[in-house]
Amino acid sequence: MEFQFYMPTRVITGEDCIRKNKDAFRALGTKAMIVTGARSAKANGSEKDVTEALKLADIEYVVFDKVMSNPTIACVYEGAAAARKAGADFVIAIGGGSPMDAGKAIALLAAQDISEDDLFKGQYENKILPMAFVPTTAGTGSEVTPYSILTNDKAQTKTSIATPLLFPALAFLDGRYTKDLGITTTINTAIDALSHGIEGMISVKANPVSDVLAKESIRQIRECFKALKEGSLTAAHREQLLYASMLAGVVIAHTGTTAVHSMGYSLTYFKDIDHGRANGLLLAEFMKFTAAGRPDVIESIITAMGYKKLEELEKDLEELLGAKEAITAEEISKYSSIAIKAKNIGNCPVVPEEKDLIKIYTESFGLSV
Ligand code: NAP
Ligand code: ZN
Repeated sequence: MEFQFYMPTRVITGEDCIRKNKDAFRALGTKAMIVTGARSAKANGSEKDVTEALKLADIEYVVFDKVMSNPTIACVYEGAAAARKAGADFVIAIGGGSPMDAGKAIALLAAQDISEDDLFKGQYENKILPMAFVPTTAGTGSEVTPYSILTNDKAQTKTSIATPLLFPALAFLDGRYTKDLGITTTINTAIDALSHGIEGMISVKANPVSDVLAKESIRQIRECFKALKEGSLTAAHREQLLYASMLAGVVIAHTGTTAVHSMGYSLTYFKDIDHGRANGLLLAEFMKFTAAGRPDVIESIITAMGYKKLEELEKDLEELLGAKEAITAEEISKYSSIAIKAKNIGNCPVVPEEKDLIKIYTESFGLSV
């Protein structure tokens, strides 16, 4: 057995974990830039808990709260310029995947000069501002991944900066911050985490440890399906989803994602479909495609989730996601031509061709061929 496992992020969980561990910020620097979205971190108490902890720890801070969903390249350059101007020496990102991913790019760009042309090329100096993350959605796992995914208008898709430099030093998981997350975003983000666990098991980069974590993550997410369908999540469900999402993040930190994510990016970029929902719409058909060449992998996923057949998972996903968006054959053809160029296509054990992507989109949206 030959594999490597690397997880440098210190994960701290539990109610009030930020204030209880306020001194952990001291190891990161003396002036923080808080990177967040416009509203939710103020409403759910996470930003206040961070600023109070910083005050108690005698650490200065500035706030950059301009991160939009699916952050743009312009947004992260603006954030990095603000961090330099303020003299911030570490970053605290609070929010869903968007502020966390923006926080990573800002921490990188504040520490070194990288032109837009070189942003996704992977050649970076060994310099970045240290980071602490507070996820307030339970889905992306960005708090434990080395990826920052940005809207890339030149390529008309979303593109990742991927480097181990992007692992945050600290992640604080407090389920209370996700308490008021609406049911639609809760479902979409839970399906994103599910997709990470499933794609992580399918990926050619899966290893024995990532498989253990993925199985536990997808099992826990399935346990929440009933409450997600009924909209009856308890605080315990919220904690469970946040935990499962972190586990799935550790999985994709090792395995990467697959064609599901590459294909989902077009649905987000062109049709404004939420990231997790986009993955969920494509997941079952991609699993059927993979099952033709690797039935063993798909069977172990289905078994770990407590199902007997893939069709049972497909039905649950349909119930959770509801009516599907309309899509045309022209759109499918365009999205397939973009997705086939993505790096994560190479992680698929049964490597799809462009015609296979067309078929997966077509079947996923119930279009007649
Ligand atoms: P998001 O774009 O971060 O947030 C979606 C919406 O939810 C925003 O309107 C946000 O409001 C709101 N929100 C966040 N937390 C909330 C809370 N606790 N209560 C109420 N509303 C809340 O969504 P996301 O699905 O978490 O992240 C998606 C992004 O993550 C995509 O860009 C995707 O590509 C990326 N992603 C990254 C990785 C990775 O490994 N780095 C993996 C998967 C996905 P505010 O704007 O006011 O905060
Ligand atoms: Zn994702």
